[in-house]
Amino acid sequence: MLKRLSAILLTATLIFLSVPTSDVFASSVRINNKPVSYTKESGSPFLDQSNRAQVPFRSTMEAYGCTVSWDPVSQEAIAVKGDTTVAVPIGENYIYKNGVQIPNDTTAQIKDNRTYLPIRSVLEAFGANVSWNPLTETVIVSTDDLTSFMTVHFLDVGQADSIFIDYGDYEILVDGGNNSDGDYVVNYIKPYVDGDIELVVATHAHEDHVGGLDNVISAFQVDQIIYSGETSTTEAFQDFFNAATSEPNCTIAGDSDLTIDMGDGAQFKILEMGDGYRDSNENSVVSMIDYHDIEVLLMGDLETTVEKNHLSQFSDIDVLKVGHHGSRTATSQEFLDVVKPEVSIISAGIDNKYLLPNADVISRLLAMNSSVYGTFRSGNIVMTTDGYAYSFNTDINLTANDAAAIGMPSQSTSLSGIAISSGSAVTEKEACYIGNSSTKKFHTLSCDAGAKIADRNVIYFKTREDAVNGGYVPCKICNP
Ligand SMILES: [Zn+2]
Ligand SMILES: [Zn+2]
Repeated sequence: MLKRLSAILLTATLIFLSVPTSDVFASSVRINNKPVSYTKESGSPFLDQSNRAQVPFRSTMEAYGCTVSWDPVSQEAIAVKGDTTVAVPIGENYIYKNGVQIPNDTTAQIKDNRTYLPIRSVLEAFGANVSWNPLTETVIVSTDDLTSFMTVHFLDVGQADSIFIDYGDYEILVDGGNNSDGDYVVNYIKPYVDGDIELVVATHAHEDHVGGLDNVISAFQVDQIIYSGETSTTEAFQDFFNAATSEPNCTIAGDSDLTIDMGDGAQFKILEMGDGYRDSNENSVVSMIDYHDIEVLLMGDLETTVEKNHLSQFSDIDVLKVGHHGSRTATSQEFLDVVKPEVSIISAGIDNKYLLPNADVISRLLAMNSSVYGTFRSGNIVMTTDGYAYSFNTDINLTANDAAAIGMPSQSTSLSGIAISSGSAVTEKEACYIGNSSTKKFHTLSCDAGAKIADRNVIYFKTREDAVNGGYVPCKICNP
């Protein structure tokens, strides 16, 4: 739970840092999924020079359930809830929580005779979770623990797919990357899995989707597995299928229309697009997260023919996991006209031999005014949502120049949300460990596997800790 908390707070921090520098007005504040109403008398939220949302003190804190007062002697605004008292001195770079000074990077201020306070630090002093949606300029506040927040992780598994959904005690994994990604996926999701993984979806039989799933099924108790219904004689598929069919207390079935209740208004839906196509990609299991007002559509490698034949099953969504790694054989204009994604995620590997994603697909998405993020530029992409608004841990937008994922990634985001540079300053001379930015494994310098890493994927680390913090897992042969 602690890890999850820090991950969300870090996500929120990153998003705050990415707020544009103009003095734009934050349009709304939502506390526990309810909008806070501001009147002419109360004033309206705005962003200060440090890009922190300043909100009217009294109406916001009262909406949060506080008793609010003003101490004219100390010039402090005071909010009390339960046994917590937070005092906010005007013009100072700190606040007090129960008399203890907490540094703050912005100050409360008086504007038009009203007190405004930096909402994030004050609400966090009361234990709230605060997030920011830059698209709608909404501050999202939750007093609960994190059960009302859902995170959707688009893992950076190179030229492959792996999407992890965490919602309270409920976890779903859609695809597990290539064979070589198995350990990485297991280690990435481990901190989030409470008990069982409720559902694993194998979208279709190709290695870049089922490859790592046998590791996941071995490492965790999986309760339900849904696959496309198509089997394959490849080793990758057989490994997955053997693990799936021998998992105790687990049901395995081909896809059909299905709605799975994740609790508290969150649903995971399987959208049946027909089976028995000759091309495995066309058999992909299509699924959708439906959480109050927010929908996320996961297309697997589904291609245009099936998209176009099933347009009536799609609807206007918020976030699209783009089909087939951004191939021109998927994501038709007809399809986009129906789903209208605000954010599109392309999962692809640097310098992949398929030259994905395709420039036309990126341009098509941009022409829809969609933000387009790629795992090959952003690393692991994490979406956080309360069901009414959402935020991402990246704002690195792809352009048509990012077609074919050419060149070194500009940065790669580690599990903890701390960006590290792939072409980091550690030189071969200084290095004690060598990593593979594609497989996310790291080795001792003398390991044979380390020597075989393609130049473009080489990353050096000075310490073991640097490698682990960067999201790299130790090689099983050299045990670095
Ligand atoms: Zn694929
Ligand atoms: Zn495929």
